[in-house]
Amino acid sequence: MSSVRPGNPGATRPCPHCRETVLESAAVCPACRHYLRVDAGADSPQAPALTPLRIEGSIRHPADGEPWEYTVVVSICNDRGVEIARKLIGVGAMNPNEQRTFTLSVEAVTATAKGHGKGGVQH
Ligand SMILES: [Zn+2]
Repeated sequence: MSSVRPGNPGATRPCPHCRETVLESAAVCPACRHYLRVDAGADSPQAPALTPLRIEGSIRHPADGEPWEYTVVVSICNDRGVEIARKLIGVGAMNPNEQRTFTLSVEAVTATAKGHGKGGVQH
């Protein structure tokens, strides 16, 4: 999904628990919430995550009428308007008078590139 080299901001890896693509720097998988590193916060405390975007909204089916089926899609566009990611999050159905709440949040952390300068990453 990403062509960013390991150790650089934006580098990704698959979560060993749910196979979702997550940030290499993530200590906890945002999808399944399993821990990804046992040393989280031990040597390089990460700045607390900002949430520069958070949208929450609810829809309620009217008390009468046929059931609804819904589809939740999230897409990400870069600054040229080119779609770089598009994901089907979930589908479902709502019966009359039922409610669903949807929350979209974008978390951001300061990325400190490891191996600054020449030489790259050393393990
Ligand atoms: Zn996971």
